[in-house]
Parts: sequence; structure tokens; C-alpha cells
Amino acid sequence: MTTGATATVRGTRAPEALGRTLMHEHVFAVSAALANDRPELAFPHGRAAAIDATVARLQEVKDAGIDTIVDVTVFGHDRDIPALVEINERVDLNIVVATGFYTEDLPSKTFEIRQALARQRGRNFYVDVFVADIVDGIGTTGVHAGIIKCVTGPEGLTRGSKGLLRAAAIAARETGVPITTHSDPHTRGGLEQLDLFAAEGVDLIRVVIGHSGDTTDTDYLKAVMDTGATIASDRFGYDLPGTPATPERVAVIADLCAQGYADRIVVSHDAMLHTDWLDADYTAMFPRWTPTYIPTEVVPALRDAGVSEADLQQILVHNPARLLAAVAEGAS
Ligand SMILES: [Zn+2]
Repeated sequence: MTTGATATVRGTRAPEALGRTLMHEHVFAVSAALANDRPELAFPHGRAAAIDATVARLQEVKDAGIDTIVDVTVFGHDRDIPALVEINERVDLNIVVATGFYTEDLPSKTFEIRQALARQRGRNFYVDVFVADIVDGIGTTGVHAGIIKCVTGPEGLTRGSKGLLRAAAIAARETGVPITTHSDPHTRGGLEQLDLFAAEGVDLIRVVIGHSGDTTDTDYLKAVMDTGATIASDRFGYDLPGTPATPERVAVIADLCAQGYADRIVVSHDAMLHTDWLDADYTAMFPRWTPTYIPTEVVPALRDAGVSEADLQQILVHNPARLLAAVAEGAS
């Protein structure tokens, strides 16, 4: 496979230099609407304090042995790339940013109307925006997206999400960056997503099915991985009621590694370091929902469960490097 560089906030990196990588986190997510109109909600202690706190937490992540974070915050979840640039100037960690749209159905009215108008002219607005984020960069920051995020929920493919997944597939083929998803494993949503990507000609080796760790149904997980796709056990520490606890998530990974699937698994927390989605009262309910949890607690637990050093390296280093290497169309 011909591999290329990986776009990060601080410029391109060789994929094999990315080191230990968390594949699904949210570093800084604030909507322009709240930041402009209700800043006391977006930044309860001010923007500078939010940036300081995020720098401090990322430094802890770096000190815990993580080298790269993939920030999958996209349209609909509201990126703040200038803030990320400011943050990343103060902490020596690679941050890969994403494009795409976060919604289980229709995107915003703005995107819908632009898409309707684009279609009249034979264009696809979603594809054009995703490709521009990857090829031209985001805003005036010079930062390029290195991965495309898309979403389906318990309803599965809907009128809106179908169009967005298809756009993600087209943009991925055109640019060679991977796709990462939010999926509902309880409805086997990853397989439905993969069917659509395959129909659009995406090499499924370039796809990560997110939130797969929310189920312990290893038959489903193996069916996803048998397509060539990678599963993400990406909510370590986010102990929502009704989801597997850490020991169960660890046992699933250990079981799958024992069956030879280590080259199809990545891990993360889905942590939100600063976001206007949540307030401190909410995040306080999940004290382990922080991106140091995997290096400090989960990796030792995986070792204790029998996962080999080679498999840990595969999950934390080699799989992310393989996925994040942009691949020219037809080169894989
Ligand atoms: Zn997420």
C-alpha cells in the first residue's frame, strides 16, 4: 500500500511517527452561536481559562505516554480550530482534526439548503465542504482535516444520514483520508454503514466503526472486522448506565486479540476536554472519563487480561498509523 503523510494541527507527520494514538476524542468543541451570544455558557470561566485548562489536561495525557489524539469534532458538534492551534502551540502532542457532520439524521438547515442549491448545479455541497477541509484547510488556520466523521444512530440510515455517509465515502475516495463513524452497535449499525461504504467503492480497511466497545456481542464485532474494517472501543471511562463497564470492555478486547483480531482494534475515551455541550456538573459524574484513563488504567488491565505487548503496540500505534496514512485513490 502506498502511504502518505498525516495532517495534524502542527503540519504533516509521517504516520509511523505518530506513536501511541487515541482515535476518538474531543479536545475543544464550542459552537460559534454560544461563544458569540451566550459566552457565559460556552466559557463559564472565560475563553483563556478554558484554553489553559485544556493545555494542562493535554499535558497530562502526553506525560501519561500518549503522542497523538484524533479530535473527531466536526460540523454539528462545532470545532474551534483557532483554539486548537493556540492550545497545540503550548503542548507537544499531535492532534489530528476531522471534517464531516455530526447528526443522526438531517444536518443543519444551512447545509440542507446549500445542498439543495448545489444539486441544482450538479454539485454535492457536503462533498465539496469535506474535500475543501482536507485539501485546502479549515478557515484561515492552515490546518487540514485528516479524517472524515459520520454518524448513524439507533434509527440507522435515514434520509439525512444516508446523504452524509455517501458524501463521506465520496470525499474519502477523492482525498485518501480514512472514515470514522459514530454507530449504534445494539442495532448492528456498523454493518449497515459498511454496506453503504462498500457500495460507494470505499476500501473498508480505511474505515473505523466507532462506539463498537459499547457492546459485548463479539459475533457482531467479528462480522464488522471480517469486512476489513476496524472497531473502536472508544468510550473507556464514560460509564453510562447500561453500557459495559471497563472490565467487560477489556475482556472483549482480550478475547478478540486471542482470536487474532488485534490488527482491527483501536481504543479511545470519547472524552470532551472543553465543550459547550456539557457543564461541570455532568462531567463530574464520570471521573474516569479523561484521556489519561487508557494509558494509566486500561493498558495495565489489558496486560493482566493476557493481551501481549505486541498486540498492545498494534492497537495503540500500528493500527492508527495504518489508518491515518492518507492513501491516494487506487493505491491501496
Ligand atoms: Zn465522539
